[in-house]
Amino acid sequence: MDSVIYFDNNATTRLAPEAREAMQPYLAEFYGNPSSIHRFGSQVARKIQEAREQVAALLGASDPVEIVFTSCGTEGDNAAIRGILETSPDKRHIVTTQVEHPAVTALCQHLGKKGYRVTWLGVDGEGMLDLDQLREALTEDTALVSIMYANNETGVIFPIEAIGEIVKAKGIPLHVDAVQVAGKIPLDLKGSPVDLLTISGHKFHGPKGVGALYVRRGITFRPFMIGGHQERNRRGGTENVAGIVGMGKAAEVAGKRLGEEGARVRALRDRLEKFLLDACPGARINGHREKRIPNTLNVSFKFLEGEAILVLLDQYGICASTGSACSAGSVEPSHVLRAMGVPPDWIQGAVRFSLSRYNTEEEIGFVSEKVPLIVERLQGLSALGKLADRQKDRRGTYDAGDRIGARR
Ligand code: PLP
Repeated sequence: MDSVIYFDNNATTRLAPEAREAMQPYLAEFYGNPSSIHRFGSQVARKIQEAREQVAALLGASDPVEIVFTSCGTEGDNAAIRGILETSPDKRHIVTTQVEHPAVTALCQHLGKKGYRVTWLGVDGEGMLDLDQLREALTEDTALVSIMYANNETGVIFPIEAIGEIVKAKGIPLHVDAVQVAGKIPLDLKGSPVDLLTISGHKFHGPKGVGALYVRRGITFRPFMIGGHQERNRRGGTENVAGIVGMGKAAEVAGKRLGEEGARVRALRDRLEKFLLDACPGARINGHREKRIPNTLNVSFKFLEGEAILVLLDQYGICASTGSACSAGSVEPSHVLRAMGVPPDWIQGAVRFSLSRYNTEEEIGFVSEKVPLIVERLQGLSALGKLADRQKDRRGTYDAGDRIGARR
C-alpha cells in the first residue's frame, strides 16, 4: 500500500503513467513552437492535433476543430461565459445554479455587480434541479445558461439532455461545466444540445495547467484570451504543448477504460458507502443515491466537523476533503450543502471521498476500518463538549477542555 491513501480525486488526480510518458519528449527534445513554419515547429503542431482528436473522441464531439485548449477548468468556464456574453451585449441576464463551482459562481457574482441580472436556480434535498424553475427563468433577455454536469462535492448529475431541450427551445446558448464528468461517464456531444462544455486535464489523470473548452461548430464566440492566432483565434497564447499532449493521452486512456473502470470504481465506492452507513451511527449520504458520478461519496457525520475528521484521517495517511471553506477562523458550511438544505446537525460534518481507477479493495478496507474509530472518538469528545456546555449553563462558568471535532 502507498504511504498516501488518496481519496481526493475530485480535487485532482494522479498523472497516468501513459500520459507522463507521452509528455516526456515535449518537455525535452521537441521544444518547438507549434505556430512556427519550420519542421521543428510543425511536428509539434501535428502532435497537438492528435491530442485534439483524442479529447474530441472522449467527448464524442463531431469534429476535433470544436476543441479549444485552455489552461484549466476555471479558464474554460470564464472563456465560455464571457465569450458568449460578448456576442450579445444587449442581453443582460444569466441563468445558473446555486451549486456551481466557484469558477462559475464567483464569475457570475462579479458579473452581477457589473450590471447583469443573475438567476440562481435552487436544488432539492437530493441536490436535484427543478426543471420548471429553469423554464420559468428564461426570458427574451437571457444571454446564456450555465449549468454543471455533475457536482464536485456530492457527485450529483444534472439531466443535461432535458435541460438542453428547454434551453434550446428558446434559442439560448447552453454552457456546461463538465469538469467532474469527463473520463468518469460516457459523453456524446454529437447529438446533444450542449453548445459549450468545459473540462480540465488534471481531473482525469492528465497534467495540471491544461484544459479544454468544447465550442460547437456554428456557435459565435469571442476569445477570452486575446493575443495571437492560436486555436483558430479562439485562445491567444503559445500552447502548453507537453500539457496538451499529456491531456490527450489521458483522454485516450480514460475513453478506453470508461465502462470497465466506471463499474469497478462504483463497486468500491458503494462498498465504502455501505460500510460507513452500517458502522457509523448518525451517518447520512448527501446527494441523490442513483444520479451520481460513480467515484463520489459525500457523507455527513452527525454533530461532528468534517475538518476534524480530515485531520485525524490525515494521521493515517488518508486524503479526503470537505466542501467547507475556512474564513476568518470559522468554518463556513458548504454552499452546495446549504442549497440542499442539509439539516443543521449534519451540515458541518460532511466528508467527501472521491475515488479513481488507482484505488484498491485494500484501501477501501483500511478506510472502512479507520473512519468509524475516528467518528467514535470525535463523538465522545463532542458529548464531553455538550456536558461542559450544560455545566457552564448551570454554573455560569466555562472550562473549554479538549473540544477537537465538537460542534455546537
Ligand atoms: N468546475 C468544477 C466542477 C470543478 O470541480 C473544478 C475544480 O475542482 C473546476 C471547475 C475548476 O477546474 P481547475 O482546477 O482546472 O481550474
